[in-house]
Amino acid sequence: MNKILDLIFEDVKNENETKKTAVTLRISALIFIGYFLCLMAVFCSMGDWMNVGGCLVCGVCYVLSFYTTYLDHTRESAWISQILMIVWIILFIVMFGWDCGVQHYLFAFLALNFTVSTAGERRKVLTAVGACALRLALYAYARNFKPYSPLDPGISVLIQILNTIFIFAQITAVMIIFTKDAQKMEQKLVRYNTKLQKLASVDALTGLWNRRSMWEYIRAVEYDYEVGNAGFVSIAIADIDFFKKINDTYGHDAGDKVLKAVAGLFMDKMKTYGRVCRWGGEEFLFVFYGRNGDAAYDALQEIYDEIHRLTVPYENEEIRITMTFGLEEYDQNDGMETAIRRADEKLYQGKETGRDKIVY
Ligand code: GH3
Ligand code: MG
Ligand code: MG
Repeated sequence: MNKILDLIFEDVKNENETKKTAVTLRISALIFIGYFLCLMAVFCSMGDWMNVGGCLVCGVCYVLSFYTTYLDHTRESAWISQILMIVWIILFIVMFGWDCGVQHYLFAFLALNFTVSTAGERRKVLTAVGACALRLALYAYARNFKPYSPLDPGISVLIQILNTIFIFAQITAVMIIFTKDAQKMEQKLVRYNTKLQKLASVDALTGLWNRRSMWEYIRAVEYDYEVGNAGFVSIAIADIDFFKKINDTYGHDAGDKVLKAVAGLFMDKMKTYGRVCRWGGEEFLFVFYGRNGDAAYDALQEIYDEIHRLTVPYENEEIRITMTFGLEEYDQNDGMETAIRRADEKLYQGKETGRDKIVY
């Protein structure tokens, strides 16, 4: 069994040919060989030796078609496979009439045409149009001419059932081969991309946006401002007071826990006001979107009060902190860099004049 699978999935030697196409052609040929063997059995049971012979020829053609996929000329092999299909579909309709149902194999032909053919998109569409025209022509023919060798109603039912099974098998095989890897790969890439994007824009410790992604946001805000969508914009920078002391007193882990707690509070509060990021070690930058300095001051006052109420439990202790804030309203003439620098200067001023305050 493994040997058979290895044979079917054997790679093509030519580097410019795809394994997928060769495998599809092989499986397709095997399905057709199975189909013609079944038909031969049906005709044998009826003693219809002429049709047994016809099916044998078709079966042998598909054995050859299977063999051609190992000759490293996948393109020619695809041609042979498709032409073969058209030939016996026409012959079957002429011989047995519309009721034998082989016209439905044109759908399998369509699937093969779009997957295994190396032709360009235009040629593929033209081939599809041709297949559609052929189906209509066969229908017109079948309406106007009687079949040469009409089938018994019982045999007709049997052949319909065989056709249904083999057409479904054929299309399913093509779809599985051509969507399996592609879908898996696509899903994997989307997941990986999302993960990478998140990793690149979020601070690992606090889960806040990082400085890089904040710059992206700032550039977008500047644009909004330019086109008149943002209204007022204000910038604030906050820094935890005597944070080093927290690290020194309780340890670095405690310091991390405080940073996370502060970040959580900011994230929650800034949902409606704009965006906050971790600007540096224990520094945070706020962008108040659509708020002038006064309105941002009110929002910041709320945050300031929350910081006062914040307690971070750590090993039987409750760590409390204060923070200093520098606030500046954005002025388009000066640019964002200036607004940030001014907010930073105000923060420094706050530190110089006793900390635990908002300087505006
Ligand atoms: P000031 O009131 O003047 O801001 O005093 P400060 O002690 O907060 O200021 P300073 O800038 O001297 O100290 C900041 C400290 O923050 C130093 C650094 O070890 C610490 N820090 C920076 N990033 C992290 C971090 O991710 N985790 C922890 N635990 N500490 C950090
Ligand atoms: Mg500090
Ligand atoms: Mg600092």
